[in-house]
Amino acid sequence: MSEVRKGIEVFGIVQGVGFRPHAYRLASERQLIGTIANTGAGVAIDVQGPRQAVADFLAHLATDAPPLARITGVKVRDLPDRANGNLRILPSREGVERRALLSADVAVCDDCLRELADPADRRYRYPFINCTNCGPRFTIAHDIPYDRHRTTMAAFPMCPDCLREYEEPRDRRFHAQANACWACGPQVALWDGDGRCLETSDPIAEAAARLDAGAVVAVKGLGGFHLAVDATDDEAVRRLRRRKGRVGKPFAVMAPDLDTIAAFCDVGEEARRLLATPERPIVLLPERKPSPIADDVAPRQARLGVFLPYTPLHHLLFQACRSRALVMTSANLSEEPIAIHNDEALRRLHGLADLFLVHDRKIARRCDDSVVAVVAGRPRPFRRSRGYVPVPIPLHVEGPPVLAVGGELKNTVCFTKGRLAFLSQHVGDLENAETYASFEETVAHLQRVLRIEPEVVACDLHPDYFATRWALARKGVRCVGVQHHHAHIASCMAENRIEGPVIGLALDGTGYGTDGRIWGGEALVADYAAFERVAHLAYVPMPGGEAAIREPWRMALAYLAHHFKRSLFDLAVPFVEQLDRGRADVLLQMLRRGVNSPLTSSCGRLFDAVAALLGIRQRVTYEGQAAIELEMAIDGAQGDAAYPLGIVPHGACWQIDTQALFEHLVADLRQGVPTGEMSLRFHNALVHAFARLAGLVRERTGLQRVCLSGGSFQNAYLLAHLQSRLLSEGFAVYTHERVPAGDGGLSLGQAMVAAHGR
Ligand code: ZN
Ligand code: ZN
Ligand code: FE
Repeated sequence: MSEVRKGIEVFGIVQGVGFRPHAYRLASERQLIGTIANTGAGVAIDVQGPRQAVADFLAHLATDAPPLARITGVKVRDLPDRANGNLRILPSREGVERRALLSADVAVCDDCLRELADPADRRYRYPFINCTNCGPRFTIAHDIPYDRHRTTMAAFPMCPDCLREYEEPRDRRFHAQANACWACGPQVALWDGDGRCLETSDPIAEAAARLDAGAVVAVKGLGGFHLAVDATDDEAVRRLRRRKGRVGKPFAVMAPDLDTIAAFCDVGEEARRLLATPERPIVLLPERKPSPIADDVAPRQARLGVFLPYTPLHHLLFQACRSRALVMTSANLSEEPIAIHNDEALRRLHGLADLFLVHDRKIARRCDDSVVAVVAGRPRPFRRSRGYVPVPIPLHVEGPPVLAVGGELKNTVCFTKGRLAFLSQHVGDLENAETYASFEETVAHLQRVLRIEPEVVACDLHPDYFATRWALARKGVRCVGVQHHHAHIASCMAENRIEGPVIGLALDGTGYGTDGRIWGGEALVADYAAFERVAHLAYVPMPGGEAAIREPWRMALAYLAHHFKRSLFDLAVPFVEQLDRGRADVLLQMLRRGVNSPLTSSCGRLFDAVAALLGIRQRVTYEGQAAIELEMAIDGAQGDAAYPLGIVPHGACWQIDTQALFEHLVADLRQGVPTGEMSLRFHNALVHAFARLAGLVRERTGLQRVCLSGGSFQNAYLLAHLQSRLLSEGFAVYTHERVPAGDGGLSLGQAMVAAHGR
């Protein structure tokens, strides 16, 4: 019988996910001989055997791949037969080309959890148990190929038992790069607030006891430290909030299992699936009241961000804790990057944490938890980070290699290569100097592990953004400025794998416009190469510029002054009656003289103005707070009643006029209409207006497809209702499910626009 020999290359996420043992098993079952190796490009296989057996091997290679593998391509070529040999896995070699994709971090698997709980197992209660199917990846890798000596596990030589598992192709820890046990692997320790190691035989049990007593404990996780407290302990949560200086921003809550979560949140089918995925994101769920969770965990929110344990350490902590719910919030001060190193945590969290539950496995990459909501039955990422990064977003077209540097807030960067887009983990707000270093590290690391030499660097048009200035300072590459809302719409098109032109409704807070004004309530006709602005919210001034973002009452005053002029002081509504007349006059002067009052068409600022006018929030402590609280204020109000919003022709396009909206709001306020009802009518007004606008654009252009993007679509009511309204009017509607609708998804769109640029 004739023998054949094939050289096979497999591309994608095939390293550190058990692909070589899988190939080894397939080959040995069919009595093939040859070699299997990780390379810089993926996995290289050289197999020889009877023609039928080799064909059978090939047929199963991709289809039966291990659960964490993501295959993006397979190349097969014929090789000359050779003399007899055996079947071997070769040590990794470094190819010239690095296409091997690194896997994301994976929550501890059920097999490992069983061993963790088994007193007879040699890893009983070992906090770093992992296997080929689970454990850290991205956050411990310095480089590729993904091999132990290129990870932070290099510091832990394997003991003979671990090594045996590692080398045995039939073992479920065969080539598990983070393999470790009590004898050879990382260990935990408990430190006091000053970094002194506490004498205890069980640091986890001791930490749990202190949590139960109300302490704030910094817990080292996969991509950084968390600050933990008992989520049911009002006093402890208040203490954490006070120390963290995070006045209103909600904390995430970790609970040991789905049943526990279901006891205080409404968990739908899709949410249940998301919570239990190996990515283990924080899922935003409606909180059931009365709730055992302290009010200060998520003040003025109807939703709670909850997630399940994803490291063995988390599981052990819950086994030792009385509390069934722990606040687990990123360990940082306000918007600084999350702390990852032990000494860094001690320094930066000094005074924040009473204790530090640390370990000696280093974190190579900072990576915050991911956050997802479920809207209209689908996952909606708010933050795409740990568990998802660096898994690429598949593109429908191939372009030149691009680096897109993202926006200013919730920054991410994006590299493209071939038909793949690699979004970085959440970098954070580049308004903070502390985040700059993290931004540069993120770019350098991704560039290294992806081996991408960008030909084009894409950035926002805003001349003062840190990322834009950074991009413009690059030498030897072409820099392309991309309009913010064009990038949002392109991001939505890209993840939906469609070509333009489309009708793009881009609703968000802040984006630099081509006219130098601040856009944010925009209707575009766009493809990747270009866009036309066909409609927008009518401009209003933002008194004090940036200050108007922090103080929504300024926007309410600006809108009232715009629509009612001096007679605004005669409006008998609580907002006006409670105005500080002195400060209001200063602002009105600024507006009259046009001093420090940039014009904006922002949807976010309109939300702010309405929230302030309704008495919901006059000042914010985090981005989007007023809009979120205005959405939450709907609180069960239902119906289709809407305030009028005028659409008026304006040159070659349309403007959305807010005069009638504010007249009706003022009238309802005077009649004492419930706040929830007013919030509902305001949301409906936006839904109706943008649906009508889409209709007008369709009449003019014949376009049927609408993309919804921008941070305002993190508003569940707005997204769900506008989507269903547009669908009922016969539009094809595209929304975000893989990357955030907010600025966290911006870099993907920038990359697509730059790749199509002239
Ligand atoms: Zn496992
Ligand atoms: Zn060991
Ligand atoms: Fe935006």
